[in-house]
Amino acid sequence: MKVVIALGGNAILKPKQKATFENQLENVRKSCAYIAQIIRDGHQVVVTHGNGPQVGNILRQNEEAKNIVPPFPLDVCSAESQGFIGYMMDQSLKNELNKLGLEKSVVSMLTQTVVSEDDEAFQHPTKPIGVFYSEEEARRLASEKGWVVEEDAGRGYRRVVPSPQPQTILGSETIKSLTENGAVVIASGGGGIPVIQTDAGEIKGIEAVIDKDRSGLKLAQEVDADVFMILTDVSNVYLHYGQPNQKVLEFVELGEAKQYMEEGHFSAGSMGPKMEAAIQFAETGKTAIICSLEDACLALEGKAGTRIASKETIHS
Ligand code: ADP
Ligand code: MG
Repeated sequence: MKVVIALGGNAILKPKQKATFENQLENVRKSCAYIAQIIRDGHQVVVTHGNGPQVGNILRQNEEAKNIVPPFPLDVCSAESQGFIGYMMDQSLKNELNKLGLEKSVVSMLTQTVVSEDDEAFQHPTKPIGVFYSEEEARRLASEKGWVVEEDAGRGYRRVVPSPQPQTILGSETIKSLTENGAVVIASGGGGIPVIQTDAGEIKGIEAVIDKDRSGLKLAQEVDADVFMILTDVSNVYLHYGQPNQKVLEFVELGEAKQYMEEGHFSAGSMGPKMEAAIQFAETGKTAIICSLEDACLALEGKAGTRIASKETIHS
């Protein structure tokens, strides 16, 4: 099967861990050991991943050193984070495949994701990123750079950026053919570098962040994947999550999934976008899986995790 795997933040940096290169590489190595098992089982694999903490730290480096080295815009920071995470994954995956005696080529692709300038997200930025500022500094940056800044839960002021819908992943036809030719491709990290396309066909970077579950869905659709897998830090999706009456979900038919979505079981900033992406993928007659990294292999066999699909395909 052709599988697109979207790795959550946890696969690169655990909450409260210090963001050293060594810590991140060690996490990525462990994550890649699980992905290597999926490849060993004979599946064609495309990997995508988040970059929230990493791009936040790069922005901070830029901000703190701005009097020494001119700071780069957000799309460039996104490219930097995609580059270094891609490097860690590419290397780790090669090493893990090598341990299993599998000769596979692994490539990491710096990917741009097209968004629309007319996306209403540009009128209502929602995603807080980077460092905290004092009120005074925040006001100055807002007028100097045209940033939107907002008070963040009593912790200070933060820049907020738009999170537009991904429209298309540039180069997905190449990702598709590389995958079908036996390569493992790492692509569209951090949702991809946000770009807009002008009427004249020119592409250029824009300051925004793209949700990796949404861009993962686009990627899965564009490479014509059979399975879209979202690997996160919980083993399953639940109803009444975190409540005493919490109920685990294993096989969820499309209709049920939509109903649970409407009933508000999935939080907006975390499980919501995953279920939304899973539902949209399942609408095309394919299978979406949400599970933990550790359970990925079993989940592909239908023995773990939460599976979302149409009535016709859910048990196939
Ligand atoms: P990632 O970095 O993998 O994208 P997120 O933190 O965005 O992870 O999303 C995973 C989190 O979603 C879980 O750790 C859990 O706290 C939260 N969550 C919210 N609603 C649910 C639900 N209904 N079932 C399971 N987890 C949920
Ligand atoms: Mg997270």
